[in-house]
Amino acid sequence: MASFFEFFSQHWQLAIDGVSTQAVVPVVQALDIAQAAGDPREIAEAVLIAAIQLLLIAGVMRPLESLLPAERWQDRRLTTVDRNFTLLMLLGLFPLFSFLVLMPFAQLLGAGPATSEASGLKALVPWFEDHPYVLFAVYYLVYDCAYYWIHRAQHVLPWWWAMHSMHHSQRQMSCWTNDRSNYLDGMLQSIILACVALAMGVEPAEFALLTLLSELVQNFSHANVALRLGWLGKVGERLLIGPRFHRNHHMLRDAQRPERHNCNFGQVLPWWDQLFGTALYHDETMRPTGVGDPVVDADNGMGVIAMQWYTLQRFWGAVRCRAGWRLGDVSFSGPGYAPIHDQDLEAQASSSFASHPTPPPLGSSPDAGQKTAH
Ligand SMILES: [Zn+2]
Ligand SMILES: [Zn+2]
Repeated sequence: MASFFEFFSQHWQLAIDGVSTQAVVPVVQALDIAQAAGDPREIAEAVLIAAIQLLLIAGVMRPLESLLPAERWQDRRLTTVDRNFTLLMLLGLFPLFSFLVLMPFAQLLGAGPATSEASGLKALVPWFEDHPYVLFAVYYLVYDCAYYWIHRAQHVLPWWWAMHSMHHSQRQMSCWTNDRSNYLDGMLQSIILACVALAMGVEPAEFALLTLLSELVQNFSHANVALRLGWLGKVGERLLIGPRFHRNHHMLRDAQRPERHNCNFGQVLPWWDQLFGTALYHDETMRPTGVGDPVVDADNGMGVIAMQWYTLQRFWGAVRCRAGWRLGDVSFSGPGYAPIHDQDLEAQASSSFASHPTPPPLGSSPDAGQKTAH
C-alpha cells in the first residue's frame, strides 16, 4: 500500500502540474519573462502553498476571531497593515523568493530532484528507508528545534532584534500577524532552515509539507482567538502551540516581572520551551501585546514599505556599534538607532534616582514599566 507520503507526493505533483500549465506558464509567457523565471513548476509550488494558507486564514481563522475573540477591539484598524503584509508575502514575495533564492541555493548545495541514492539521515540510519513516518517526525523535530533557537537568537542579538521587533510592534495581534516581518530577517531565517533541511536530506516535496504545516500552525497561533477547551485545551497546549501560548510571547513587558516576556519561543511544538525552561502557560491575567520601546512602537504609524525601510535603519544602527552585538534586551535611541541595553538603562535610572533628592516615582509616566516588551 502506498504510504501517505507517496500519496501526498503524487497528488501534490499533480496539483503543481495543473497550476503550472494552467496559470504560471500563461502568465510567464504573457509577461515574456520565461528566460528569467526558470522552472514554472517551482513557482507553481509556492503559489499552491500560499493559496492553501490564504484559504485557511481567511476562511477559517478570521471567522473564528469574530466568534471567539481573545481581545475585544473597537475596530480592527491596526490589523490592516498586517493583512497587507500577508497578501504581499503570499501572493508575491514568497513565490518570488522561493525560486529566486531558495531553489538556486538548494541546487547549489547539491539538492535536486529525488534520486535513488540516500542522503542525510537516511544515509546515516538506513532503517529510516522503511519507516518514512518516523523519518518525517524526526525531520520535523529537528526543523522545529532549529526554529526555536533561531527565534531565541532573534530576541537576544540586538541587531537581529532590530528586525524581529517589527513582528512584535503590532498592538492588535491577529491571524494576519505571522507574515508581518522584515524581509531581510525572513530571508536569513529561511536560508538557515533550508540548510538544516538540506543537511538532513529532506526532499523538495517533504520540505514543502514541513513549511506548510509549520506556517499554518504559526498563522493560527497568532489569531485573536480564545479557544475554551477546558482540560482538553490544557493538554493540547502541552503538545502543540496554540493562540494563548504564543500571545504570551507577544506580551508587553511587565515592570514588576521584567523577565516574564522572555518566554514561549517555540513555533509549532512547545516542548523546546518546556525543555529549556522558557515555557509560560496562562495561569495569569492576559496582558496586551506590543512593545514599549517608543522607537519600535513608531512602526505602527507606517505602511508596508515605510515599515520595512525604518526597520532596516534600526538594523543598520545596531550592526554598526558594539552594543549591537552584545547579547541582551535593548531599546533603540537617537537618530542613529543605536541599541541601549536595558541593564544599562536601568543602571542609569538608578544612579540618577540616587542623585536626585526628589526623583519622579518609577512608573509615573504612561510608558514606564512597558519598556521593551519583546
Ligand atoms: Zn519573537
Ligand atoms: Zn509571533
